[in-house]
Amino acid sequence: MPYCIYLRKSRADSEAEMRGEGETLARHEKALTAFAKQSGLDVAAIYKEIISGESIAARPQMQRLLSEVSEGMWDGVIVMDVDRLARGNSIDQGIISQTFLYAGTKIITPTKTYDPTNEFDEEYFEFGLFMSRREYKTINRRLQRGRVASVKEGKYVSNKAPYGYERVKIQGDKGFTLRPVPEQAETVKSIFEWYTNGITQADGTKKPIGTSLIARELNKRKVSTHTGNVWTQQTIRDMLINPVYVGKIRWNWRPAKKKMTGGAIVTERPRSTEFLLYDGMHPPIISEETFRAAALKMNNNKSRPVRGDKKTQNPLAGLVCCTVCGRKLQRRPNDKTPDLLMCPAPTCDNHASYLYLVEEAVFETIKKWSLGHELPDLTGNSRLVTDTTDAETELSSIFSAESKLRSQLNKAYEAFETGIYDTAVFKQRSTALNQQLKEIEFRKQELKASARRAQRNKRIISEFIPKAQRIAGAYYNISDPHSRNELLKTIVHHIDYTKATRGHGHESDFSITVFPLIPVE
Ligand SMILES: [Zn+2]
Repeated sequence: MPYCIYLRKSRADSEAEMRGEGETLARHEKALTAFAKQSGLDVAAIYKEIISGESIAARPQMQRLLSEVSEGMWDGVIVMDVDRLARGNSIDQGIISQTFLYAGTKIITPTKTYDPTNEFDEEYFEFGLFMSRREYKTINRRLQRGRVASVKEGKYVSNKAPYGYERVKIQGDKGFTLRPVPEQAETVKSIFEWYTNGITQADGTKKPIGTSLIARELNKRKVSTHTGNVWTQQTIRDMLINPVYVGKIRWNWRPAKKKMTGGAIVTERPRSTEFLLYDGMHPPIISEETFRAAALKMNNNKSRPVRGDKKTQNPLAGLVCCTVCGRKLQRRPNDKTPDLLMCPAPTCDNHASYLYLVEEAVFETIKKWSLGHELPDLTGNSRLVTDTTDAETELSSIFSAESKLRSQLNKAYEAFETGIYDTAVFKQRSTALNQQLKEIEFRKQELKASARRAQRNKRIISEFIPKAQRIAGAYYNISDPHSRNELLKTIVHHIDYTKATRGHGHESDFSITVFPLIPVE
């Protein structure tokens, strides 16, 4: 898709022209055309707003541009700066931002590209330059509602097509749908076939294989994935339960959740079971029958949940995860030895341990927590920092530095537009200022994160550690495994378990990582 240039005078431009500083739009046109040429952007149209109105209603070229953007006609719109698109009142800003966001059309300025399809990109948040955080949030909510409406119509609203399909523009309507990519669709069919019906063996018979073997087989055959990475069991698993392959659209499957990890905010998309399903506009690759067969098999392979009427005999029930295959480890009584804790997958390489030994190791970890040790303070400090005075002081000085840089940046723009700076000088100047702003923003995020950590640490000290102390004191006085299990589940999120060796003399060679159930922020 091509690009277009949008030109508009600001009020300051009109005033400058009255002082005889020459024609703004002609100057901008020259600058942006040269810029597009240098950047290899194919410009197919130039829109000149003769009237310097701020509202959309007063800008006929903007109306036309917006309607074309919403039809997905443009890959990107080149402007002098984002202010040229919208300043005016906030409703107009909202309409314009929403249109660009929804169509996934880029806004390109000589110094920066704003790509709305990259939702979690830092640059994208700077797209919020011409709206406040709050407005941005409102628009995003509205946009989400728009997306739900599209999903209900069977359109595909995600930016990335699932493996097996490509995203295509719907003819004569807004939005996108999916079209099978023949070669990939064949792989999808193979995956379902191997899982439900079987893969052909050397003797000509068919034998069904599990998700990890499917991943291995595809890697062996050098079938490339979407990302160029290797196939993993998780990818296969996700594909086998993805209703997109039977022509459905799934919504709210993994709602994004912000989470703190390693001192940074990461957006995670935990699997959700409460998703909505709609008939898609796209053709299926897999039959309903095959899909159901795969789902049935997948459910049967899941470890059976503990039945309500029979209390568990395993104090670690539901808590210990196999690091090799991801399954939950189970208790296995044994005539000749103490109870075992083992991975339920028969072919898994992770070896079993005596249940009581693993339980003791978990208990030791809780004892350490009760002393305030081995708690993952996200900065990696052993001390749980709770004081935020320094961070607050630094934050307030950062805010003033930031506004100073912004006004310098504005001046640079003015100098460029009035011809005091040529492109080279402007670029150098604005790049330097933007770089400083970026560094400041980064530091700001760091400080905010450390303030959140401090809050969280306060809760760890006032709630989590006392709880660990109570449990450490009481644990082995409780004889009932079920009650022990209930108690552990109030403080342990999950436990990763690995054991590479087996046999006599290797009983304690397992390693575990116990993840505390502590407030995220
Ligand atoms: Zn396993």
